[in-house]
Amino acid sequence: MTNLKGKAALVTGGSRGIGAAIAMALAEAGADLALTFQGSKDRADAVVTRIESKGGRAVAIRADSADAAAVTASVDEAASALGRLDILVVNAGIVTEGNSLEEIDRILAVNTRAPYLAALAAEKHMTDGGRIITIGSCLGEAVRFPGITLYSMSKAAITGMTRGLARDLGPRGITVNVVQPGPIDTDMNPASGPSADGQRALTALGRYGRAEEVAAMVAFLAGPGGAYVTGAQIAVDGGTNA
Ligand code: NDP
Repeated sequence: MTNLKGKAALVTGGSRGIGAAIAMALAEAGADLALTFQGSKDRADAVVTRIESKGGRAVAIRADSADAAAVTASVDEAASALGRLDILVVNAGIVTEGNSLEEIDRILAVNTRAPYLAALAAEKHMTDGGRIITIGSCLGEAVRFPGITLYSMSKAAITGMTRGLARDLGPRGITVNVVQPGPIDTDMNPASGPSADGQRALTALGRYGRAEEVAAMVAFLAGPGGAYVTGAQIAVDGGTNA
């Protein structure tokens, strides 16, 4: 198992779903944890309690990813609370139903602008060996059904950002990678939802993934095993884009 003892990590959107699983996996590997949330204080506090009950250290920070100043402040707060910052996992994300100007602005602010702002703020705190891991989507790579253009667009931009940052930060020994999940059973995309059978059928494995299966890849990339992986897109999608 990856050993992250002595490291400090920030996971955005760590109160539920994939982000909560990532926070748990990094903490179980020994990292001190900060996690952000938007509305679910109780859920965020529950993740902190779970980490503490296993002997770990964790702090929850309320920060709306749509608010640029709050994103930067949350990174600085995490580094200050934990005394350092080695790992940033930009996970918080949303889907929207329509294409109103308000929805376009919000999804781009949360899914695209916030990861960039968080990375820019985090690299100031990181030293050699730092890790930035973004959570994109298989839909940022290939769009296999209609009606998801805005979300796909917001996630495709993450790939360009990841590659550029890998070049910018490589000379400092900081790696930057994007993990692209396929259908994962969470509040956002329940395995019992109306489009679930269609998504399941697109996978090679014929099933939804579990948040812990994404978290395991993130923990690997965050640890020593990920040292020579940078600028990469890593699918954890059950073969959706195979
Ligand atoms: P969930 O909706 O289950 O959880 C979303 C998390 O992000 C929550 O912790 C939530 O906090 C937080 N969040 C949402 N909006 C904001 C915001 N404006 N500011 C701060 N935090 C916010 O989503 P998933 O766990 O399913 O998704 C996590 C990531 O994985 C997203 O980027 C998503 O796009 C991506 N993904 C998910 C897939 C899936 O099938 N589930 C597939 C591919 C990618 P709070 O609890 O406070 O609302």
